Amino acid sequence: IRTIGILGGGQLGRMLSVAASRLGLRCHIYEPGAAPAGDVAWKVTNAGYDDQDALRAFAESVDIVTYEFENVPTSSLDLLESLRPIRPNRKALAISQDRLTEKSFLNDIGLATASFADVETEAELPAAVERIGAPSILKTRRMGYDGKGQIRIDDPANLQWTGAPSVLEGFVPFTEEISVIVARGVDGQVAAYDPGLNLHQDGILRTTTVPCGLTGKVTTDAVLMAARIVNALDYVGVMGVELFVTPGGLVVNEIAPRVHNSGHWTQAGCAVDQFEQHIRAIAGLPLGDGKRFCDVTMENLIGDDMDRLPELLSTARTQIHLYGKAEAKPGRKMGHVNRITG
Ligand code: ATP
Ligand code: MG
Ligand code: MG
Repeated sequence: IRTIGILGGGQLGRMLSVAASRLGLRCHIYEPGAAPAGDVAWKVTNAGYDDQDALRAFAESVDIVTYEFENVPTSSLDLLESLRPIRPNRKALAISQDRLTEKSFLNDIGLATASFADVETEAELPAAVERIGAPSILKTRRMGYDGKGQIRIDDPANLQWTGAPSVLEGFVPFTEEISVIVARGVDGQVAAYDPGLNLHQDGILRTTTVPCGLTGKVTTDAVLMAARIVNALDYVGVMGVELFVTPGGLVVNEIAPRVHNSGHWTQAGCAVDQFEQHIRAIAGLPLGDGKRFCDVTMENLIGDDMDRLPELLSTARTQIHLYGKAEAKPGRKMGHVNRITG
């Protein structure tokens, strides 16, 4: 394998491209919009996800296709898959694209999720709230990220609608949020990084800290659950698994079939970070050493956090990653820092 095609040219594609180039591979980015990855990739195709001619040419120029953007139309994936292998596979992508199928799959393999109800239309909402109760969270089935497309329901008498087919999730009274970044190779080898403790603000990941401070029982359970998910999907690549810690045990929030924001700490804490691990996995190389050798807190630089850059640049034991995005807008992830804390 020499050339990797990446659907999506955001910061994740950018960091994947850097990792691939370190391994002597090159990336061809496919991105309809502005592409932070474009600065570092071998080649960029700037075309829509439904442009069949552009997609064909893209696939023909690469050895395998992977993605950092999950909402590529099915017909386009069919075309790509007829030309080159897609890793992680289509099943993993289809399941994680839709919160309803995702939760059903997780329950089917014996993992706990929030209680949930399918809410196709606004008319079905009152009955769903009756069943699930309040507080609860209404989420669009597809396309949501960074808490977008979510409405918290506290009062059943005052309901708002998301505007699209949704799931209603019972509120999980969690004590902590953690995530496992897990990798699975072509040969079925599985490796997981230490679970990280995640803090969110306004629905956006703010910080991830390792070690997460939880007991060995909880972290082992979390890793075993992540391994069960990737094995069940015959998955190849890196996956992010978000979990709620509750007094009754671990509950899976959602899975992301790609490198994950809460795994950025691995850039400072491990010999092989999540980006290199993903490239190794999809390229059929042996998985690398993901053992954590220091304590790290990753902090996202969102919007005007960028004003703190001069100070961050002169802070010791701090690694800075900027995505090269032109404009700092509120809620926009501009970069992150990894602070080595121990
Ligand atoms: P991401 O950017 O991680 O993909 P997202 O838009 O898919 O975000 P979720 O992970 O579903 O959003 O939810 C964002 C945050 O909202 C969670 O990390 C958690 O803090 C809170 N949250 C979501 N669902 C629930 C729930 N059922 N119970 C309690 N808190 C929840
Ligand atoms: Mg999500
Ligand atoms: Mg999430």
